[in-house]
Amino acid sequence: MKYAGYDLIIIEGKAKKPVYLWVNDAAVEILNAGEIWGKSVPETTEAIRAATDEEASVACIGPAALCAAATLRRADPKARVTILCRESDRPYARMALPYLLAGRIEEKNFFLTPPAGVELHLGEEAVRIATDRREVETAGGKAFPYDRLLIASGASPEKPKIQGGNLPFVFTIRDLPDIVRIRTRLPGRTGRAG
Ligand SMILES: Cc1cc2nc3c(=O)[nH]c(=O)nc-3n(C[C@H](O)[C@H](O)[C@H](O)COP(=O)(O)OP(=O)(O)OC[C@H]3O[C@@H](n4cnc5c(N)ncnc54)[C@H](O)[C@@H]3O)c2cc1C
Repeated sequence: MKYAGYDLIIIEGKAKKPVYLWVNDAAVEILNAGEIWGKSVPETTEAIRAATDEEASVACIGPAALCAAATLRRADPKARVTILCRESDRPYARMALPYLLAGRIEEKNFFLTPPAGVELHLGEEAVRIATDRREVETAGGKAFPYDRLLIASGASPEKPKIQGGNLPFVFTIRDLPDIVRIRTRLPGRTGRAG
């Protein structure tokens, strides 16, 4: 942005559909992101570069582990990359969770595809890193060896400490099971969202 001559861009209001901001020197445009919505970071970067400029810098956010795995495989296509994930659901875009809850997208359409050649172990919570043996130990009692280790454990929501904040019908939205729990409370809705 600095090269284009901007220190700061202020965006007001809210787009009705997914869009992205394209800054090209004096030209600043808001472009349609309908085809990009829900894609991973590498896919988003590729799609925006194809639509604009092959050398464009793309600022986007997505699951860190999948993005790092794709980057590692690009740098070394023979690298053995293993991802441990404590969730038992396939990777998905968290930002789509409210749309899933609202019924605007179906569960089957919001899962992300891990990069080719990456070993994904679902339902494996890392509980200990044995640095002496270079192993990650999981809650299920398994040990995964590593040469290099990247921790991308994200965040977890904190409920405000207010009266009633811990009642069973007060929810946060962070993971797919949160949507299932909320849907179970709604009259006439089943837990699964798809
Ligand atoms: C409702 C909602 C809406 C959002 N909307 C937007 C938006 O519109 N735009 C935007 O840019 N961002 C949005 N975000 C934020 C975006 O989703 C996050 O920035 C992004 O998910 C962060 O990615 P991450 O990989 O760092 O962490 P996470 O997506 O949290 O992934 C971390 C993963 O690590 C796993 N994990 C944690 N500990 C362990 C362990 N010990 N062993 C194994 N696995 C473990 C977790 O289960 C999780 O699967 C939204 C988030 C939410 C919840």
